[in-house]
Amino acid sequence: MIKDYNVTQIRADFPLLQEKVRGKNLIYLDNAATTQKPLSVINAVSDYYLKYNANVHRGVHYLSAKGTQMFEDTRKFVKNFINASDVSEIIFTRGTTESINLVASSFCEAFVGKGDEIIISEMEHHSNIVPFQLAGQRHGAVIKVLPFDEDGELMIDDRLEDLITEKTKLISVCHVSNSLGTINDIKKIINIAHKHNVSVLIDGAQAISHLKVDVRELDCDFYCFSGHKIYAPMGSGILYGKKSLLEKMPPYQGGGEMIKEVRFSGTTFNDLPYKFEAGTPSVADVAGLKAALEYVEHIGYENIEYYESQLTNYALEKLKTISGIRIIGNAKRRAGVISFLIDGYHPLDIGTLLDLFGVAIRTGHHCAQPVMEHYSIVGTCRLSIAMYNTFDEIDMFVESLCQAIKMLR
Ligand SMILES: *Cc1c(COP(=O)(O)O)cnc(C)c1O
Repeated sequence: MIKDYNVTQIRADFPLLQEKVRGKNLIYLDNAATTQKPLSVINAVSDYYLKYNANVHRGVHYLSAKGTQMFEDTRKFVKNFINASDVSEIIFTRGTTESINLVASSFCEAFVGKGDEIIISEMEHHSNIVPFQLAGQRHGAVIKVLPFDEDGELMIDDRLEDLITEKTKLISVCHVSNSLGTINDIKKIINIAHKHNVSVLIDGAQAISHLKVDVRELDCDFYCFSGHKIYAPMGSGILYGKKSLLEKMPPYQGGGEMIKEVRFSGTTFNDLPYKFEAGTPSVADVAGLKAALEYVEHIGYENIEYYESQLTNYALEKLKTISGIRIIGNAKRRAGVISFLIDGYHPLDIGTLLDLFGVAIRTGHHCAQPVMEHYSIVGTCRLSIAMYNTFDEIDMFVESLCQAIKMLR
């Protein structure tokens, strides 16, 4: 185990992990859907409403100035956290879905015309499919799909360059798959894309709580994530975009804050990043986001990555001993998302029985129906780990799973 990694102490910071469900200790293994929040995050949100609630940016008074300061400090913090070059490249959104919709809408408006092509992958979350289908329809663009192989690895070497033509404008892929756990070689995808002058959006929703992200080292054109998947409040999210691209893109939504001057004869737009931040943002949630990122930084990505990979390998090894189990997704590099099926039993039945033991996992298609179609299955059981899960919890999960299977027999 890693020196200084004290999972007991980490768990103590998360109030909900102390709760009982159905009279049992909660074993929360649904972190890919959302993560629990440490007390520092909950306090940051309540402090905002208790001590400095006011609207940001427009006020001259004390509270508004304080709120604005926190808001802009968070932007700077995020900039450093993902190593962006400039604060103007950090846009606050409500989450990954809104970030992707923003890019799909504004990037396509600026750069995509009839017959142009956008490449996504076969393992995308619906959030990284549907916005491009909608934008594609509006602009007459074609959506092409980079497939994955039976292990759940994207066929980058074999297929990507064949898919790219001079009509290709954008590639949008996930950093980590939320259904297969695959960590994609996005660096390779970005390098290939840039060789052909194609921009790249990375959906980092499933990566940000597990892996250190450096947008400048990756050289991605866009990167986005949801706060709630990295211990921050729902309603907070980030879109990173290269300034040179964001400057050429039209606003996504119209409203307050995104304008310079409004006349009935025409409106001029605000500078980056405000051009993309129409209306009152979710300020308290942004306060929570800062606290969450500080928390992660305090624990340290190297520690998190190391601990979580041990835990994931342990879970995989234990699961493989269960007869009739089929693990869906066997990528060489993987995060702590494990999809599986038990031969002869419906995932929903397994999930429902596990819940009786206080074990929270997810069943279904995980908003990735094309992945299910690839394997000709309706859904999977999925456990997904976070830095606060323990080896004991994995033991209890596997024990409960075996019990559940016995009950179904
Ligand atoms: C959760 C998730 C999304 C959607 O995030 P929201 O927070 O629901 O907007 C998109 N992509 C992936 C890979 C996800 O895991």
